[in-house]
Amino acid sequence: MGIMIALPPIDQLVDFIPTVHYGDHTQVSPSSTAETRSGSAGSADSVQRSASGSPIGGALHLSSVLPAVTDALGAPVTTAVHHDPAALRQALGMPTASRALVVLVDGMGFWNLVDRVGHAPYLRGLLKDSANARPIATCAPSTTVAAMGTFGTGTCPGLTGMAGYTQLNPQTGQISQLIQFRNALKPDDLQREPTVFERLAARGVRATSVGLSKFANSPLTQASLHGSTYVKADRPAAIVQRTLESLREPGLTYLYLRDVDKVGHSLGWTGDEWGGALEHVDDMLGQISRQAPRGTLIVIVADHGMVNANPAQRIDVAQEPTLMQGVHLIGGEPRSLMLYLNDDAHPGDVAARWRERLGSHALIRTRDEALAQGLYGPVSEHVLPMLGQVSVCVNDGYTLVDSSTQTAVAMSLPSVHGSQTRMEMEIPCLIDVD
Ligand SMILES: [Zn+2]
Repeated sequence: MGIMIALPPIDQLVDFIPTVHYGDHTQVSPSSTAETRSGSAGSADSVQRSASGSPIGGALHLSSVLPAVTDALGAPVTTAVHHDPAALRQALGMPTASRALVVLVDGMGFWNLVDRVGHAPYLRGLLKDSANARPIATCAPSTTVAAMGTFGTGTCPGLTGMAGYTQLNPQTGQISQLIQFRNALKPDDLQREPTVFERLAARGVRATSVGLSKFANSPLTQASLHGSTYVKADRPAAIVQRTLESLREPGLTYLYLRDVDKVGHSLGWTGDEWGGALEHVDDMLGQISRQAPRGTLIVIVADHGMVNANPAQRIDVAQEPTLMQGVHLIGGEPRSLMLYLNDDAHPGDVAARWRERLGSHALIRTRDEALAQGLYGPVSEHVLPMLGQVSVCVNDGYTLVDSSTQTAVAMSLPSVHGSQTRMEMEIPCLIDVD
């Protein structure tokens, strides 16, 4: 019989975890659990408590997955943050294979999955394998745009320039939205790292991406997946069929599945509809697993998890002049803000006012503090101005909204993500080989 994964108490899952570090290591460095968070009353204590879990990162990170797969395929690709694909493959427990399928299920956090695993017989079977019974970490912020760039390039938001749902466009001085690249730089101006797909293709290895027709030419696809051959598939039967067709030839197939995230945002991850979306995903992946050529390496990951927003813990920054003092623009998302300051504002002063107001419910860092902690990984010069001078993450069911710029719907999403909690940052990396 397999291992049963115990669901930790929810208050632990929605509390802050230590900052996740980038690299090829499998051991957590002592510094990551001994970070000083001077000036943020209460959070030092909460970090110590959550550190009794297992802090993860290094090789156990979303950025490691594709480099590890390239090693499994016998064509190891290194990246700006990962120099040892073989070590990553070993840490993640991947065998070698002539063909691999990597599936990214948007919004299917490790603990969201464990909690609702009754809806997912195929994935439940995989979780019983002890090698799969542990989460890996996604990037910070724990959100789609940042994670897609991190995943596709095997690097980090500090290098891809994809650091939030919205962020400053330094060329226009305005906020850009990076799901559709509204008001944003062109994808190749913003995201300058090679993708793992293009590096594989350059070595003569097949690299195929299966996804919705509407995303085939999207800027987000261009930024994070360029170099792969995009195969359009919209209905579940077509997704299964196109994926299996691509696997007839050795190489890499990547499949992106969106609905778990979409249903989570609109109806909440604890609802019946989310369970239904998970069932559909499980059904498709189970079919693919049963019909894929023998020896196909299947790896199933996610970009982030989700927490339920508590309406009683919603803070509207537009109603809080003390918080807005010195703040010119706000980027990010409800669980993770980036504050862009007026020229005459001091980041330390702004951070102090937010800490005073939010106490133990927020993890607040000036940009200098965030860089020193490696929050975004290494940061390139062209990305630095895109990162807010102060970042604010919230725990529990808190959200930070802005009624001066956001719609009522956007301010009251039932489930959200972006912050540095286990629920949001811990994702599955399930490996299936037969
Ligand atoms: Zn997502």
